[in-house]
Amino acid sequence: MKEKPQSQQGQRKIFDVLVMGSGIAGLSYILELLQLKPSVKIALIAKKNLAESNSFYAQGGIAAALNNKAEIEKHFQDTLLAGAHLCNKKATLQILEKGHDAIETLIRQKVVFAQSEGHYSLAQEAGHSTRRIYNCEDHTGKTIITALIDTIKTYPQVTLFEYHTAIELITQNKLHKPGDSKEVIGAYILNESTGKIDTFLANAVILATGGAGKVYRYTTNPETATGDGIAMAYRAGARVGNLEFYQFHPTLLYHHHLNNFLISEALRGEGAYLLKPDTLQRFMHLYAPEKKELATRDIVAKAIFTEMEKSAHNFIYLDVRHINKDLLIQRFPTIYQTLLGLGIDFTQHLIPVVPAAHYLCGGVLTNVYGQTDLQRLYAIGETAFTGLHGANRLASNSLLEGVVTGKLTANQSLPSINTSLQLRYPIRDWDSQHVTDLRRASQINALWRGLRGEMTSYAGIVRTEAGLNDLLKLLYTRREMIEGYYRKHAVTRDVVELRNISLIAKLIVNSALFRKESRGSHYREDYPDTNSRIGDTILRGKDLQFNFQDQYEI
Ligand SMILES: Cc1cc2nc3c(=O)[nH]c(=O)nc-3n(C[C@H](O)[C@H](O)[C@H](O)COP(=O)(O)OP(=O)(O)OC[C@H]3O[C@@H](n4cnc5c(N)ncnc54)[C@H](O)[C@@H]3O)c2cc1C
Repeated sequence: MKEKPQSQQGQRKIFDVLVMGSGIAGLSYILELLQLKPSVKIALIAKKNLAESNSFYAQGGIAAALNNKAEIEKHFQDTLLAGAHLCNKKATLQILEKGHDAIETLIRQKVVFAQSEGHYSLAQEAGHSTRRIYNCEDHTGKTIITALIDTIKTYPQVTLFEYHTAIELITQNKLHKPGDSKEVIGAYILNESTGKIDTFLANAVILATGGAGKVYRYTTNPETATGDGIAMAYRAGARVGNLEFYQFHPTLLYHHHLNNFLISEALRGEGAYLLKPDTLQRFMHLYAPEKKELATRDIVAKAIFTEMEKSAHNFIYLDVRHINKDLLIQRFPTIYQTLLGLGIDFTQHLIPVVPAAHYLCGGVLTNVYGQTDLQRLYAIGETAFTGLHGANRLASNSLLEGVVTGKLTANQSLPSINTSLQLRYPIRDWDSQHVTDLRRASQINALWRGLRGEMTSYAGIVRTEAGLNDLLKLLYTRREMIEGYYRKHAVTRDVVELRNISLIAKLIVNSALFRKESRGSHYREDYPDTNSRIGDTILRGKDLQFNFQDQYEI
């Protein structure tokens, strides 16, 4: 007789605020809210342990201009240039103006930035016209996140739910007042240790779930980055925007024992060479005769991709053997030790690298106060699309965005938090009646592998109309299979993630098809030029809208 899967219905939990995501954005939101409303009761949900996030792995630092108009203006201009003039100017200025405040906030939270002779050792990265990157050597994210988590843990108002995965937002229509939209009142959340799905209800719901690098085969992002917040918000009816702009980092370590380890571009800053995998010859002079290895991320990533295609290799090499050993080991201790653990002594061996999905410039459409189309729902950090990054993120602007939008959103969400939910009809707990089949791990794995490989080949660094259209057909079939699987099987984290990356993939491909130009991190071989008349790509439900900047009303 066929074994019947068990019911997954869990418990009901009620809080003032539900925060999904424990990266820099979620943690900054919570710490600010605790100052504004000390009596608040917060649920903090994280898919794995609290530290596991894109934020934790940030190496380079956090950009912030000195607190004067001229320096902020320079940072503003650098950001617009990197963003290929697609940034939302208003939002960009609102965020950059708060750079100094963000650094002071982190220092108050006991983050110790690198100093030398009594001054902060500000670094300069590609695209920045001056030194303005606060850093903790090559482990900035780890230092910041550890400090913030230590502080959060001292507050009894925050209940921590590690190894919990949000599956779907709970919404209700506000029908009786004209002009009122849908409101979000909670989420269904899978508790990995019990396998049950709990119903969380809250006056305010914060999406701080980070990016979606796992849509692609190679990514610098950890396992948790599957675009869940963006997928949930889209399914609930919120607009999302500019998802075609996925920034690729040129140099991820290519190694089967460690699949998301970033090799910082600061190594190229110190003089590292890129070599063809077959002939071991340098090649960047063919693509960027002046800057060579120091060209911008998009140019270097495209050059590496082209060389990989030409040689039919899955990687190319980074060579640092000619650089002073002591300098390398002192400046890049984490990279040195990690590679050594894999048997690669970079002072003697070549480092195999591959370009990898790194940062999603688009996301859930918001203003800098985290407001979305849906009442009581806020989105912050990499999940949100504020318009700061335009077509290409300026290095080290994303940690800054997380702190600033986290703090601003804390204040903005107070009215929601202070207004209790009026449930219009009984809220249903998770219903497992539809579950008929037992799990098939090999099928899930096959769908994961297939989808990510196809996205890399057809919607990665180089895109064409024909390739994107072919991919859409494949995705249509895959999505039908995945939705079918989701309906008939018990819900597990990998199935939730697979469902979400398949939706994000479809949205990326649709947006990339629509953008008939090349700009920033989006390169169309069939439309190699920039068309300055094209604005943002905004999607909601079945509609594909095309907007010009500064016209959104939230
Ligand atoms: C290797 C690397 C290096 C980087 N270096 C820099 C740098 O030097 N400077 C810079 O500015 N930026 C850098 N970035 C980018 C930057 O780290 C991220 O953009 C930023 O940290 C995003 O923060 P976040 O809080 O929005 O999301 P994240 O830090 O990614 O946090 C997401 C959180 O959401 C949780 N989550 C996700 N889905 C769910 C779900 N369904 N249910 C419950 N919880 C969920 C996760 O568990 C996690 O806690 C780097 C990124 C990477 C990957």
